[in-house]
Amino acid sequence: MASVSRIASLLERKYGKPQRRLGKPMDVLIETILSQNTTDKNSSRAFKRLKARFPDWERVASARVASIEAAIRIGGLPNIKAKRIKKVLREIRKREGKLSLGSLKQKQAGEAFTYLTSLDGVGPKTAACVLAFALGKDTIPADTHVHRVSNRLGFVKTKTPAKTQQLLEEKVQNRHKHAFHINLIAHGRTTCKAIKPRCSRCFLKKLCPQVGVTKSV
Ligand code: SF4
Repeated sequence: MASVSRIASLLERKYGKPQRRLGKPMDVLIETILSQNTTDKNSSRAFKRLKARFPDWERVASARVASIEAAIRIGGLPNIKAKRIKKVLREIRKREGKLSLGSLKQKQAGEAFTYLTSLDGVGPKTAACVLAFALGKDTIPADTHVHRVSNRLGFVKTKTPAKTQQLLEEKVQNRHKHAFHINLIAHGRTTCKAIKPRCSRCFLKKLCPQVGVTKSV
């Protein structure tokens, strides 16, 4: 089986080394909560509507749950997400004295991760997204693509994305993490699909232990 570093290099050669574009920590946090259990398209729409409806996060924190719900409805699970968002905002305001996660920029990745996952409703993937896409830290948020492709390629043998994320954090060198995460998602979307992966056309097929095991095309 090929090493994680070798596959990371091959993925970078195929899909490139993505540039980091950092968002505002509060925006990335809320956008990631909205992305839970829905498509990127719908969560992006929900986020835009929330921002259009409320001029700042203070107004969201003070709003009625029903108003938040109405704004984010298109993103799915509006009731659960509206309550979660309001609770997270209030907790951050209580801890920080304001609605800002700017203090996390000075912290090490592990410390910032612990802080974020201590917020009710913020799981390991959401926390890692804030680290990667707002704070510029090296980490691997494991979504369904990262989890599936990593298991098929034999990097991990896990049942949940959270466990996959934990193991990949240990196995992948920091300098590869950002590109590895983005490129595994690209590979999962284009080739290593959930149903009928395109193994016959996959550039990693000679290195993949899953060829012939998974039903592919
Ligand atoms: S060979 Fe098939 S299972 Fe392996 S990474 Fe490629 S598409 Fe996925």
